[in-house]
Amino acid sequence: MALGEFDLIARYFTRPTRRAVLGVGDDCALLQPTLGQQLAVSSDMLVEGRHFLSTVAPERLGHKALAVNLSDLAACGAKPMAFMLALALPRPDEAFLAGFAQGLLALADAHDIELVGGDTTAGPLNLCITVFGEVPPGQALRRDGARAGDGLWVSHPLGGGIGDARLALEVFRGRLHLPGEAFEHVRRAMEQPQPRVALGLGLRGVASAAIDLSDGLAGDLAHVLRRSHVGATVDLDALPCSAVLAAQSETIRRECTAAGGDDYELLFTSADEAAVRAAALAAGVGVTRIGRIDAEPGLRWVNAHGRTIAFQPQGFDHFID
Ligand code: ADP
Ligand code: MG
Repeated sequence: MALGEFDLIARYFTRPTRRAVLGVGDDCALLQPTLGQQLAVSSDMLVEGRHFLSTVAPERLGHKALAVNLSDLAACGAKPMAFMLALALPRPDEAFLAGFAQGLLALADAHDIELVGGDTTAGPLNLCITVFGEVPPGQALRRDGARAGDGLWVSHPLGGGIGDARLALEVFRGRLHLPGEAFEHVRRAMEQPQPRVALGLGLRGVASAAIDLSDGLAGDLAHVLRRSHVGATVDLDALPCSAVLAAQSETIRRECTAAGGDDYELLFTSADEAAVRAAALAAGVGVTRIGRIDAEPGLRWVNAHGRTIAFQPQGFDHFID
């Protein structure tokens, strides 16, 4: 590497620590969790060609790499503290690194968290972030707490919906075409998801179960149902969608919202509708009730009239798609 490993780390990924006891530069980072809190930890890897396209702007890639990790903390109702970055780079491309670090650290600043360490190596472009958060004992949102009778909810941008990222992917794959402005809208949803950290914190003690949407609503909901030993009825026509997605055919709209993937919104259950709406309002995020949890196992789809419809969403499985 022209730019050496240590110069690269010093130039792009080292900043004075504010809260960590020890940050980048030693064998370990030292974190001081708040006394009595539990540590919430999660890792997510982004591989070129699989999780992102080579056409993505480095700033947006930096943003997304951290955003998908913060989304996991949000889904647990954990408050983000710090993160680690493990990076494989084909070559030390300074324009790429500068953009990537800018997008990454801007989102870190927005959530008041710091990069405390990582690993850097030459290799096919691959980004792995580990996030650390904290949550009071017993208050983490989990997948196994959904109860029959709970409402089923999904978050989304105010005035928007879910499924835009999948729509953008289909455009990139050449399977459909969108006019410039509409494409920019869905492309931003795909490349710059906003992790719902504030909502996750607001849902402590309100949501009975939660998960973040990464592989598509149908598949992610199935995880909650299995872990909670319950079933659900979901109104396909209630799934929130943007004006861009609403203008597509019913088939595309249903496939993108119900099985899109890459949404990074929260899917959660709660018995307290008023508290859910208050939490969403405080977080400045949209929430829509899309169904209910049933004692009977399995997932049933209905339309706006409550009629059962046969719907087999495709979902997004890395080993099938
Ligand atoms: P070691 O030799 O102990 O494995 P490294 O030489 O890999 O340590 O890293 C030196 C320091 O730089 C460590 O503090 C490590 O956490 C940090 N570091 C390495 N890569 C990154 C990165 N991509 N971002 C942030 N910190 C990093
Ligand atoms: Mg190392």
